[in-house]
Amino acid sequence: MTARDRLLGWLDKERDRQVEFLQAFTRIDTCNPPGDTRQAADIFRRFLDAEGLAHRTEAPQAAMPNLISSFAGARPGRHLVLNGHLDVFPIGDRSIWKHDPLSGDIVDGRVYGRGTVDMKCGTTALLFVHAYLHRLKDDLPGRVTLTVVSDEETGGKWGTDWLVRNCAAEVLGDCVLNTEPSGVHTVRFGEKSMLWVRFVIMVPGGHSAYPHTSPSANKIAASLIKDLEGIEAMIPAEPATVKETLDRPEVKAAADRSLGDGGADVMRRVSVNIGTIQGGVKINMLPAACVLDVDFRPPVGIARAEVMAKLAAIVARYPMVTCEELLAGNPESTWSDPTHEMVGHLVRNAAAFMDHAPQPIVSLGGTDTRFWRRAGVPAFVYGCSPVGMGGIDETVSIAEFHHVLRTHALAAVDYLSGG
Ligand SMILES: [Zn+2]
Repeated sequence: MTARDRLLGWLDKERDRQVEFLQAFTRIDTCNPPGDTRQAADIFRRFLDAEGLAHRTEAPQAAMPNLISSFAGARPGRHLVLNGHLDVFPIGDRSIWKHDPLSGDIVDGRVYGRGTVDMKCGTTALLFVHAYLHRLKDDLPGRVTLTVVSDEETGGKWGTDWLVRNCAAEVLGDCVLNTEPSGVHTVRFGEKSMLWVRFVIMVPGGHSAYPHTSPSANKIAASLIKDLEGIEAMIPAEPATVKETLDRPEVKAAADRSLGDGGADVMRRVSVNIGTIQGGVKINMLPAACVLDVDFRPPVGIARAEVMAKLAAIVARYPMVTCEELLAGNPESTWSDPTHEMVGHLVRNAAAFMDHAPQPIVSLGGTDTRFWRRAGVPAFVYGCSPVGMGGIDETVSIAEFHHVLRTHALAAVDYLSGG
């Protein structure tokens, strides 16, 4: 029997065990904040122990452990890294959930609970991929490292960012697979940056009956907002391989389907969200101050500094406006080569079980893959449908969970064998 056949056998025979682990994981509260993942890390360690897999824990914050489990294959080869996170979005008002968020209940082929989509199903899938690859280690070259991390939902400072900075030799590897919810119709090879800027408008203010005595901070804000929207017209200088990929009609169609209509366009320009406006104190006073917090998302091909330079030019036209970056040092947009062989492995193995092939696109939101890409390691995301992620009655399809697990397992074997 080939390695692939043995793998397909385990994937199929252990379906119940895979789902039971996902249920058990869902029943553990890993909401972030506070992001305490110790109990969840325990069940991962118990599973790894049962599979005879070595592991260790890196916990720069005691309540936010990160697990590293690594093994070598039969001979030297490529180093594949698997990455998923333990923490999930907060539950909010538990009483309005129809299915308790910590139940892991199964109804009509779906597992219910907070984080089932983002990304307890994905992290569970990679745990099983790791275990199955380990069983094949005498037939496979190279090395496989599983990283199961905390603190993803609040930026990764104590999770992946920390691992990449402090355990680089172990966790960087040659290529990374991640199972964040991309939707099964797209493979994500890059992601936009997140640039948050606060604009403060200060004028003398005064009595509303005397509008000739001071400008209005709120009216200036209205005019400024119009100018800020002009940022959306910036043209990205996409690397040729990215441009060629994203120009393909089938990729555009997949992006619109996966991200929502218009998503293909937003993927390639700076989005401008005027998140909050706080101006004025009373109806009959000329507002003396107005503060705008704006979320810009630069795409691949537009650097944060380019957006900041445009903003500086706009602000220069308003002597009463100052601006400051709120997340200074946040990463740039990141991308891996969309023609990297791993994309081919994911697409081919996914397509074998679907009616059409997934397409490579860029994420609008952020994932931990950016830390690897920033370090020069190609990283790709393929996961279940993001619909309902972080919402009430979050739920994942068991069929999609199995599909994602199988796709990653087969892609991993193809990648390792090809070295
Ligand atoms: Zn996530």
